[in-house]
Amino acid sequence: MIQQYLRVKADYQDAFLFFRLGDFYEMFFEDAVKASQELEITLTSRDGGSKDRIPMCGVPYHAAPNYIEQLINKGYKVAICEQVEDPKHTKGVVKREVVQLITPGTVMEGKGLSDKQNNFLTTLSDFGDETFGLAFADLSTGEIHTTIISGPEQQLLNEVYSIGAKEVVVDENFPSHITQMLKERMVVTFSYEQSTEIPPEFSRIADKLEQEKLLISVGRLLNYLIRTQKRSLEHLQPAKFYELDRTMKIDLFSKRNLELTETIRSKGKKGSLLWLLDQTVTAMGGRLLKQWVDRPLVNKQEIEARLELVEVLLKEYFTRQEIRELLKEVYDLERLAGRVAFGNVNARDLVQLRKSLSQIPALKGEIKKLPILTDSVLENMDECTELTGLLQDSLIEQPALSVKEGNMMKDGFHGELDKYRDARRNGKTWIAELEKRERELTGIRSLKIGYNRIFGYYIEITKANLATLPEGRYERKQTLANAERYVTEELKEKETLILEAEEKIVALEYELFLKLREEVKVYIPRLQKLAKAVSEIDVLQCFATISEERHYTKPIFNDERRVHIKDGRHPVVEKVMDSNEYVPNDCWMDKENEMLLITGPNMSGKSTYMRQVALTAILAQIGCFVPATEASLPIFDQIFTRIGAADDLISGQSTFMVEMLEARNAIVYATQNSLILFDEIGRGTSTYDGMALAQALIEYIHDKIGAKTLFSTHYHELTTLDQALDKLKNIHVSVVEQNGKVVFLHKMKEGPADKSYGIHVAELAELPKELITRAQVILEQLEAEPDSRPTPDTEKHMVNESADPLTQLSFFEVNEERHGSEKMSKVETQAIEKLRKMDLLDTTPLDALNKLYEIQKLLKIKK
Ligand code: ADP
Ligand code: MG
Repeated sequence: MIQQYLRVKADYQDAFLFFRLGDFYEMFFEDAVKASQELEITLTSRDGGSKDRIPMCGVPYHAAPNYIEQLINKGYKVAICEQVEDPKHTKGVVKREVVQLITPGTVMEGKGLSDKQNNFLTTLSDFGDETFGLAFADLSTGEIHTTIISGPEQQLLNEVYSIGAKEVVVDENFPSHITQMLKERMVVTFSYEQSTEIPPEFSRIADKLEQEKLLISVGRLLNYLIRTQKRSLEHLQPAKFYELDRTMKIDLFSKRNLELTETIRSKGKKGSLLWLLDQTVTAMGGRLLKQWVDRPLVNKQEIEARLELVEVLLKEYFTRQEIRELLKEVYDLERLAGRVAFGNVNARDLVQLRKSLSQIPALKGEIKKLPILTDSVLENMDECTELTGLLQDSLIEQPALSVKEGNMMKDGFHGELDKYRDARRNGKTWIAELEKRERELTGIRSLKIGYNRIFGYYIEITKANLATLPEGRYERKQTLANAERYVTEELKEKETLILEAEEKIVALEYELFLKLREEVKVYIPRLQKLAKAVSEIDVLQCFATISEERHYTKPIFNDERRVHIKDGRHPVVEKVMDSNEYVPNDCWMDKENEMLLITGPNMSGKSTYMRQVALTAILAQIGCFVPATEASLPIFDQIFTRIGAADDLISGQSTFMVEMLEARNAIVYATQNSLILFDEIGRGTSTYDGMALAQALIEYIHDKIGAKTLFSTHYHELTTLDQALDKLKNIHVSVVEQNGKVVFLHKMKEGPADKSYGIHVAELAELPKELITRAQVILEQLEAEPDSRPTPDTEKHMVNESADPLTQLSFFEVNEERHGSEKMSKVETQAIEKLRKMDLLDTTPLDALNKLYEIQKLLKIKK
């Protein structure tokens, strides 16, 4: 058996092999050691013939799904190896085979598969020249999407992140630096598949694909699924080609920063935009909502089509409520179709399907009532009337959970089944009559007829009544402590009849059920289409519901690249706080005002304001109303957000390199139709290069890109940039002092913030008066000479009177020697002063470099 194990295991090196032994799945060797740790189960060992015992651990087969799920959630794969022969009929070792390889990207059931989230298995193919093929499938719903990505690897990473792939399949030559990058950014399991040929029986899936590269991507995906799942995959839908340009691009950093589908802090849905929006009623709708949030549209017509439906659904309150009620009874048709194909639905699932389908006519009736043309929506809502009829005729209301115990089919559905059921019923009636008759004849009122699996039917007489039982009336069968059990010839005969009928019923019902399931299979494509239409209506009603509840406004789109938001709010912050407290703000940007430079103290609401603009644009482009009283927007092709490293400590990525990488992403790809949010960029490094970079970034975007940009900064110095950059406007968050306390009004105003504000706050906080005065002195000094560092108080005299006669003299002398009569400038004097004062023994190389940089910068300015 161990030899057999080793043979099988050789083919599944990267998976835990669950090796079926009777009622257990056993694991051996390294698998056992690792599994015992991961699953916290006992590690034992068994004699393997040699001197070392073989490590082993096991889980009961009925508890296996739970353990498998734990391993899959940790990113492992599990190969299920079953006995494929009946041990009763074999000599020697029973034949065993792997029947399924379960992997993170191919989970079909359990908690690993959340209702409102797709689980996409993704494949990547490298075609060279920065061209990649990508395909992904949700095995549980059968949908397959594919595209080609050309250009920098970053785009590929963005897309894989968007998809939220848990497992990525590549060939062995796929560039390892890309797999490495993916592993660093997300939790993902890698798998390998070399075959890319589309198997003939799956040609329908690739029918519509025209490019060879797409066929290769989808081919790899199919081959991997076939190799791992080893069963019917009839529910897989024709692969759909999608173009990246048909949706707004939001790179992975921006998605995280904007907390579209999960929060930065907890990585959970709660607190994200998706969480706020989710008023979907069905699981399918929930999944589609996530897809829509992940991919806002860029086509005005498509967006407006959604908005129009949302508008009527919002206005028609009662119809919408009806629709919501009806949707509540609609089961997850998409995943159900998948499980029908997979062969793991039971009769209860099919009853749910029947229930779901019977809602459709009413649902269509409600949609028809909407005062808008809904033909295209209705067209796709196929009631599958024949299927409903079939399920109606065949299945009872509450069938058994198991498909192998009968009790599923309706009377009248199948003649032979009815016959057996009659026989069983008659037998049982006969027994009930026998009981009544024997009670009368014997006069023993407690006489009863019972049944158990081992002894079958029996007549039971309590010990107390034995004396009155005529001798030899029944045949003794079993003696209990306080009763005797008997049988009669006739009872035995009836018992055989009943049991035979019972056995036949169970077998026949199972057979009929399988047949029914096959018949349902034929409807899979129609069910999938219906599922799509239902989920769309669900998401649209969700938009209407949330828009009404939170008083959102229908956005309009302009072609003048103008942003006009009146009384805008941050949708999530507003919801989380008492909505009355949230202070709405306008946002106005057009061709003359492309950039807003936002200043204001900490915690005044700069970041919130910037994000609310981005979220408003995203909501508009997914077809939802927006949190404002008026909104006219351009259609953005891309959104970039970058939060300065100091604000981003939580995500554990607070390196300046990451900050710059992300900034680069925006600078390289943004167009004049993009929206850029730079929030306190430059924080992650020293003041001087931070400020220098911030200014350079602003200038670059202003001159070379022209994207709509919101730039918040703590470098007050940058507020003078509006003099040189004509499309840049200063705005700030206003703050007032009330009864000696600082009050953040969270209100945006034109112009730069009051710069001495920080010291003012310190004063209000009652720091020592002396300290405050000193701070004011330093501030004045800094303002007078922005590039000089104020000197410690004790040296104040020396600094201020740098006209120490001696020093001054020698400077002039040196100067004269070198440059003749040219007098040394103030800047140069400063530079030399800086050099002179450096305490080299107390300077690290990095400090020295920073100092040098400052000095050089001083001198460059002069030039
Ligand atoms: P900053 O970026 O200026 O430091 P934030 O945008 O992080 O400030 O806002 C700080 C806090 O102020 C937020 O967590 C929120 O609770 C509150 N806040 C921000 N904007 C508003 C607003 N418009 N109305 C009410 N409260 C707000
Ligand atoms: Mg902030």
